[in-house]
This record gives sequence, C-alpha cells and structure tokens, in this order.
Amino acid sequence: MTYTRCKFVSPEGQECDEWFPVDGEKFCPKYHRGIPATNGNDLQKQTYIDACNKVRSIAATLSFEQLDEHIQKLEAEFEELKATLKRDILQYRAVRSERIEKMTEDERRELRKIKIQHEVHSKKQAEPKPKTIEGKLAKVLKTSESTAKDMLSMDFDSLMEKYKKAKDQDKQDGIQNT
Ligand SMILES: [Zn+2]
Repeated sequence: MTYTRCKFVSPEGQECDEWFPVDGEKFCPKYHRGIPATNGNDLQKQTYIDACNKVRSIAATLSFEQLDEHIQKLEAEFEELKATLKRDILQYRAVRSERIEKMTEDERRELRKIKIQHEVHSKKQAEPKPKTIEGKLAKVLKTSESTAKDMLSMDFDSLMEKYKKAKDQDKQDGIQNT
C-alpha cells in the first residue's frame, strides 16, 4: 500500500506528521480532513484549524486527570449555555405572541407594514460581515476587536476565569434589578 503524508502546515510552520494510505485526499483523515468551512471560505477554514491547534497545544500539556476534568467542565458549561439560551428564546417568543394576541387587527396590519419596511431598510444598509475571527467574536460579544483579540490570546483557564466573572456580575446585576 502507498502512503502519503498530510499536507497540513500550522501557522507556526509545523507540519502534520500523519501518514495515511493514498486515497486522493491531501489531508489526513484523523485530524485535518473534513474540517468544516461553513461557506467554503478558506480564511474560515484556516481560522478553524488555528483554533483547533491552539486547543490541542493546551490540551497536550494536561494530564489524563486534567483532561477528563476539562472535558467534563466544558460539557457541563455547554449544556448550561444551551439550556439558558433555550429558556430565553422561549420567553422572548412567549412575550412576542402575548403582545400580538392583545393587538387589534389594525395594529397587526401596522406591525406587518413596519416589519416589511424594516426588512427593506436593513437589506439596503447591511453591515459588511467581519472577515477575521477577532471581528466576528467582537460582533457577537458586542465588544471591540482588541478585546476579542485579547480573549483569543488567553489560555483556557484565564478565559474561563473571565467568563465566570462576567457570569457572577450578571447574577449580581440581576439581584440588584429585582
Ligand atoms: Zn494532518
């Protein structure tokens, strides 16, 4: 059987050392093939590979016990985030339908009109989509690109620390507002 070496090279210039049977693909099936590129954009794919490599380099320094801990922690956070978002989406939807229910037919017609105007308007002035991962993160988090860049350069623990702090602050704000 003929083998070929994966053509993947990290941004730091490190080559992937995986060998696999020649099957027409340039990247190894184990790590680098099938990396999703949501719109076939090479930049996104590269960004994704960079992010994966970064996590890998952190993960490589951890013991089995630490790895298990991190995986459990992340899975718990993921489930929590999903549940939180789901809960919020349901409430927003509920408030929306309740409000529509209370409307008169005229008000509903007016609402549809505004919605159509709004759609036309937003199509005209669509913001340019951010190209970099910093730009995207900044947009999602409603923060500046330099903050997003700082966050990306943090190691896992500092990032979790920051996330926890923000969450605690949220909780405190919630208490103060009630
Ligand atoms: Zn590879």
